Amino acid sequence: MNYHKFDVVIVGAGGAGLMSAMQLAHNSSIAVISKLYPTRSHTGAAQGGVAAALGNQEEDHWKWHMFDTVKGGDYLTDQDAAEILAREAIDAVYDLEHWGLPFNRTPDGKIDQRRFGGHTRNFGEGPVRRSCYAADRTGHMILQTMYQQSVKNQVNFFNEYMMLDLLINDGQACGVVALCLRDGSIHVFHAKTIVLATGGYGRAWRITSNALACTGDGMAVAYRRGLPLEDMEMYQFHPTGLYRIGILLSEAARGEGAYILNNEGERFCIRYAPTMEELAPRDMVSRFIVQEIAEGRGIGGKDYVYLSVAHLGKEKIDAKLPDITDFARNYLNVEPYYEPIPIQPTAHYAMGGIPTDIEGRVVVDEQNTVLPGLYAAGEVACVSVHGANRLGTNSLVDLIVFGRRAGKHIAAKWLPEADFAPLPANPDGYATELVEGLLSRANGKGETQERIRQELRDEMTEKVGVVRSETTLLAMQQKIAELKERWANVRLMDTSHTFNTELMEVIELGNLIECAEATVAGALARKESRGGHYREDYQKRDDANFLKHTLAYRSDTPGQPDLRYKPVVITEFQPKERKY
Ligand SMILES: Cc1cc2nc3c(=O)[nH]c(=O)nc-3n(C[C@H](O)[C@H](O)[C@H](O)COP(=O)(O)OP(=O)(O)OC[C@H]3O[C@@H](n4cnc5c(N)ncnc54)[C@H](O)[C@@H]3O)c2cc1C
Repeated sequence: MNYHKFDVVIVGAGGAGLMSAMQLAHNSSIAVISKLYPTRSHTGAAQGGVAAALGNQEEDHWKWHMFDTVKGGDYLTDQDAAEILAREAIDAVYDLEHWGLPFNRTPDGKIDQRRFGGHTRNFGEGPVRRSCYAADRTGHMILQTMYQQSVKNQVNFFNEYMMLDLLINDGQACGVVALCLRDGSIHVFHAKTIVLATGGYGRAWRITSNALACTGDGMAVAYRRGLPLEDMEMYQFHPTGLYRIGILLSEAARGEGAYILNNEGERFCIRYAPTMEELAPRDMVSRFIVQEIAEGRGIGGKDYVYLSVAHLGKEKIDAKLPDITDFARNYLNVEPYYEPIPIQPTAHYAMGGIPTDIEGRVVVDEQNTVLPGLYAAGEVACVSVHGANRLGTNSLVDLIVFGRRAGKHIAAKWLPEADFAPLPANPDGYATELVEGLLSRANGKGETQERIRQELRDEMTEKVGVVRSETTLLAMQQKIAELKERWANVRLMDTSHTFNTELMEVIELGNLIECAEATVAGALARKESRGGHYREDYQKRDDANFLKHTLAYRSDTPGQPDLRYKPVVITEFQPKERKY
């Protein structure tokens, strides 16, 4: 057994993991474990911007940002968390600026800001310029900036190490077990503190904006160890994915003035959302598109509509939207200077995840009991700041605000008192059995992973998409039970211990199935429509029965986790009907 010992082990080198690392690098021994080389993390794909009420372009206030976050989340947002997000966003963005992030600038040298969906002035009067950005590569710049700073601060990186298991002993988290992809060896990391920052699970759907590595590993590992997953039914579909491919065309396009058009050339969003038009929140715009298509106004009667930027002019397109217009050229052979771009909603973002408190500490039940030694931040976590629907540019700010809070809390409050809990007996048992079990089935009988993966992703897209119903969800629940059984007998073709990407993909597929299980169960039980969760058979929001968070615990019955509920934290804004 390969054994390592650190005060803090951070799993994930995206924006959330690196932001936590930055708070801890000076005064503790820390390791960052990442299955990818850090700068390949999905944070690097984020395009549009990071929200903070700096007020550089026009009047803005953190309270307006808090309100928008709560309303955007269809009132499932915990308002104590939303307040922290909006208040601390401002300092967190300045931290990035001081570390060297090359933001776009206003003529007088301040950070430039642009509009994004659901971000408004004066509690909903109209759009406000709140998103700080670096062209359409904001996430790339965040990741590069923080990685450079982490290297400078001598953070220890274990790159291409894949976490397979979380160790909990006597009620305290005490380590993780990881597979070294280079040589197939198993490593135990013993720690006083673990931060899970492993990102989302968009690869559970066929049409998705998410990178190949977004497979919900952190969520699945925690779920298998008995921890709950919160509000997994709240999954966001971004309205503007490239048709059939799902690659994202950032909302920055609409922030800069792009139109969404149906077959009649009509800007139909205006009909549904007269104040915010194309800049209504994503859950709504995705539904508008689905409805237009259902009523026969998709382009040529097909299942897509158009995003048009041509009227913005070449100069603005090149200056503000260079990357995404290149995607349209490269993948669809469309020239955005003159032609509209075919789009459809694409699976994008997990509002749910591992439940945490506002310090980033993982909590395990409806009383918010803290599991000592375990933190989570970023898309893997549910604090819950996005409620039932995240606003654009509110994820990057979630990473830097709550990644920072987790790091600071560990440094100031937890580490001074904490000690190493002893490792459980046979700490690498589960991981070794998993890997050796899979490799021993190589070249044997049974099916390979491709069909299982394809069926999962196709059926999630079909049955657990923008619109769901009891019929589709029940069918998916059964499918998941079946896929779990098939996965347990999956056969590998590659027996090697050296960079065995097939082994890695099979493990990832197992994780995606666990995440899908919690998603479907939560969606089936939530007999209402709220935010990203739209039930054809229960089209109204039902605050009397469902203004509460779902907690899904893995059970012995495949497809059917145990569900519990906990109240939403409401401080200032009572739930109202959402109009935009
Ligand atoms: C195309 C796209 C555009 C987006 N644009 C925006 C935007 O403009 N503004 C905005 O606010 N949000 C945007 N988002 C959302 C936002 O980028 C993500 O939610 C966010 O970057 C997630 O960051 P993270 O740190 O939680 O995880 P990630 O950046 O996904 O990083 C996850 C890390 O965990 C590691 N990891 C995962 N599993 C394991 C494992 N088993 N073992 C070891 N390491 C592991 C990976 O190697 C990686 O380093 C966008 C998302 C996408 C997909």
